[in-house]
Amino acid sequence: MGKVLLKIRNDTVNRFDLNKGEAIEYNRNDKTKGLIIACPQCGYPASGPHEYDPETQTLKPSLICGAEGCNYHGHLKNRYFDKVK
Ligand SMILES: [Zn+2]
Repeated sequence: MGKVLLKIRNDTVNRFDLNKGEAIEYNRNDKTKGLIIACPQCGYPASGPHEYDPETQTLKPSLICGAEGCNYHGHLKNRYFDKVK
């Protein structure tokens, strides 16, 4: 699996309308941005304690598709998901 391009979908508020690699931006309490992301591998919509930088389109820390998903682990950096394992 190669790199997958991030697509921001602020036209929807329903996480289950997202396709693989798509995400919705939201505002966190501390005024930074977060993302609800549909896993680039299985499409399961996940949100976590991630901080998203809209300028660089980079997420920290890495994305893990958890117990209900496919165990995908990857980094979102400069608008691309890059799989670790
Ligand atoms: Zn997944």
